[in-house]
Amino acid sequence: MAEEQWCSIPSEDVFSLFNSHPDGLSREEAEKRLSRDGYNEVESKKEHGPVYRFLRQFASPLIYLLLIAAAITFFLDLYVDTIVILFVVLANAVIGFIQEGKARHALESLSKLLVPEARVLRGGMSIVLSSRELVVGDIVLLEAGDRVPADLRLFYTKNLRADESILTGESVPVEKSTAAIATGCASFGDQKNISFAGTLISQGQGRGIVVATGNGTQIGRISEFIRESKEISTPLLRKMAQMSVVLSVVIVVVAALTFAIGLLRGLETIEIFMASVSLAVAAIPEGLPAVITISMAIGVNRMASRNTIIRTVPAVETLGSATVICTDKTGTLTKNQMTVTQVYAAGKLYEVTGAGYDPEGEFLLNGARVDPIADRALTETLKAGVLCNDASFRGEDNIDGDPTEGALLISGLKAGKFYLPRVDIVPFEPEERYMATLHENGDGSKIIYVKGSPEKILQLCVSQFDGERTGPLDIRGVTQTSEQMASDALRVLGMAYRQVPAEMDRIEPEDIKDLVFVGLQGMMDPPRDGVTEAVRQCKTAGIRVIMITGDHLSTAYAIATKIGIETEGGLSGKDLEVMPDEQLRQRLRSVSVFARTSPEDKLRIVKLLKEMGEVVAVTGDGINDAPALKTADIGISMGITGTEVAKEASNVVLADDNFSSIVAAVEEGRDVYSKIQKILLWTLPTNGGQGLSIVVAVLMGLTLPLVPLQVLWLNTVTAVGLGVPITMEPKERGILRRPPRPPKEPILTALIKRRIVFVSLLIVAGAYFNFFRKLEDGGDLDAARTVALNTIMFFQIFFLFNSKSLYDYVYRDLFSNKFMLLGIAIVLFLQLLITYEPTMNSVFSTAPILPADWLDILLVSSTVFFLIEFEKYLQKRGYLH
Ligand code: ADP
Ligand code: MG
Repeated sequence: MAEEQWCSIPSEDVFSLFNSHPDGLSREEAEKRLSRDGYNEVESKKEHGPVYRFLRQFASPLIYLLLIAAAITFFLDLYVDTIVILFVVLANAVIGFIQEGKARHALESLSKLLVPEARVLRGGMSIVLSSRELVVGDIVLLEAGDRVPADLRLFYTKNLRADESILTGESVPVEKSTAAIATGCASFGDQKNISFAGTLISQGQGRGIVVATGNGTQIGRISEFIRESKEISTPLLRKMAQMSVVLSVVIVVVAALTFAIGLLRGLETIEIFMASVSLAVAAIPEGLPAVITISMAIGVNRMASRNTIIRTVPAVETLGSATVICTDKTGTLTKNQMTVTQVYAAGKLYEVTGAGYDPEGEFLLNGARVDPIADRALTETLKAGVLCNDASFRGEDNIDGDPTEGALLISGLKAGKFYLPRVDIVPFEPEERYMATLHENGDGSKIIYVKGSPEKILQLCVSQFDGERTGPLDIRGVTQTSEQMASDALRVLGMAYRQVPAEMDRIEPEDIKDLVFVGLQGMMDPPRDGVTEAVRQCKTAGIRVIMITGDHLSTAYAIATKIGIETEGGLSGKDLEVMPDEQLRQRLRSVSVFARTSPEDKLRIVKLLKEMGEVVAVTGDGINDAPALKTADIGISMGITGTEVAKEASNVVLADDNFSSIVAAVEEGRDVYSKIQKILLWTLPTNGGQGLSIVVAVLMGLTLPLVPLQVLWLNTVTAVGLGVPITMEPKERGILRRPPRPPKEPILTALIKRRIVFVSLLIVAGAYFNFFRKLEDGGDLDAARTVALNTIMFFQIFFLFNSKSLYDYVYRDLFSNKFMLLGIAIVLFLQLLITYEPTMNSVFSTAPILPADWLDILLVSSTVFFLIEFEKYLQKRGYLH
């Protein structure tokens, strides 16, 4: 049956049609339906199979070059060469295939981390479950910020508006309703009582029964719009890929020139051709993009294991360069486990004992126990907190719902049980900072209870209840008390009520006025464990922490100073309103606490910080935080309290909402970046050295120190044995003790470039030195080449150790990477094989060498280690830049 028909059926009848109930399906029934109908997923595009992915590895200019060389050697009957070249081709493809597979795997496991969730009623209980488990007949609860998980027939709405632009192209949110529509249900726009999968709830609350899931939904049916499979791509990766292309072109040109010059010098055509091809193969850093991708994927995975889920891969890079973190307070810096500790009513300030959400506790006045029911103002305050409340007590130490409301529920329970049937509600919206509910009194009359920020409540009040009668409103007294509570780091809410006529059965924001003030409740929300330490780490890492909160300035300031955020006072949303940009920019240099802010204020702060040249990470959870999250360099949304809208606007999702996780992610981000630098630092000069040694020989008319097959050997063995293990380097110590890298700094810094040139030249010089020494010692050419081959290999091994850190000495961490040690062991074994094994000798034109030769090899190649460490010393001392 199509939705057109659902929309004409009265909502009461829909339940029976789906064998459901306003309390939801039973668990067993839901399971039955899930196995009958399948998951609520729109099927995604087919992926290419492994055969295709393997064959694709052969589609590269480098491979073509090698294949040409293989063909030529084959026709010249140089079968050994052909086999070795084909082996190199195969090895290349296998390595590429494995590397790509690793990257893909990492990405796949990431997309599994980010399943959208939905709140449903099952067996009368409201539970959160992954949207894919929804079945027809489920009752889904909607609120502002949700993405609708399936097609729903609405049966309850309260100011519900949805942005249905993905279906209709119309970006203005449309009002949704529940009434059956008799005629004219043709277009999406007409179906006001259906909420479509994929659309966004922009306002209000609603409930609906699932009428279609997965491919049965409207979006699933019309869907060419299917989620595309993500590829890892970031500005840096693209730049690297470009650089590889440019480098390859340059190298091919150099190889062609070498070929031409060789011919002019009268070398044999086939020999110089093979030399040029092997030069190109050795020098082109073909594995670079893949290795970098893997490093990023590893970084993304490590971040996930530390509770930050990367939604857009470029964030991995940017995270490491963050200079400012703008963070929420409640739940991010604090535990969001609220306990009311003070209540103010009728001029008296009560202390409340007890901890957490355990409803055991007492009320004290000046240290003495009192009966809370004896003070009617206190009772009304507690009652307002309990009734104007959407949380529920789950028993033991557990509440379900908003922690702020949970705290009010518990403080009320400490006094007694309050209950009045609820008739209607004005839901809490962070911008309005209050919530109101309409209740039936026992005597047939009705009453509105309101709770919210003290400022807001005072604005709405005209009088005050003193326990006996209503009198004039003491704005000053209440404000002073609330200030004082807030400066004790308490989150303060005000409570009020209004008696209304019995006829009233709906409330709208306009009705919330002329209230009677009853009291204040102050709740404690302790800082999260480890947050002080994380703030301190930010300081040493050169990252500023700025708190932007909707809470009161005094509360915010008290918490900020408690956890070590450095700030010169604080600013509130009101201050920001009248402050021109120029002045705010000035204040932003020293002020790190912003309170009672609106999402617009947050956006403005982020924009200004970016203008000031900062790299800004900002957290957000609400539907209106989306612009700030999008504008920031790194938008971070909350995994637990965040709305789907905020998550979709962000680059990173914090699975545990914890500030410390941001810092951990920054650390991982820096690690990824520095690892990529290390990979470049090691790969470029070793490739360069291999290629250069051939160019030099041809240009200067020297004997080739390596034959082409040896170059191919070198290239393949080092790429696997030495190149891959760098991606497994453990995090460098002290990575959070450095300042953030300058945002405009190129990845190949001056230091890296200098080192690349220096090491390339050193490798060539060292190889020739040992090569000629061996020849002069009377060694034959094969033995001399074997010495040169081993010299270059050992240069690369020693330089690998240098490359463990760009700036720091490595002597303490030489053995920190087990994969590297394993790789080196394999390389050594292979080198022994090619040096001493007779068959290998004849295939690769090598020859056994003497123990004394090994000494030469080690002495010459280890120079790179000491020279580069010495360079680091000069650098640290400021002799070099
Ligand atoms: P925060 O930055 O601390 O998360 P919010 O935007 O959530 O701030 O809340 C801002 C203010 O709105 C709070 O300081 C409080 O006064 C009020 N408030 C928060 N939650 C509720 C609620 N459920 N009902 C009524 N008022 C609330
Ligand atoms: Mg909040």
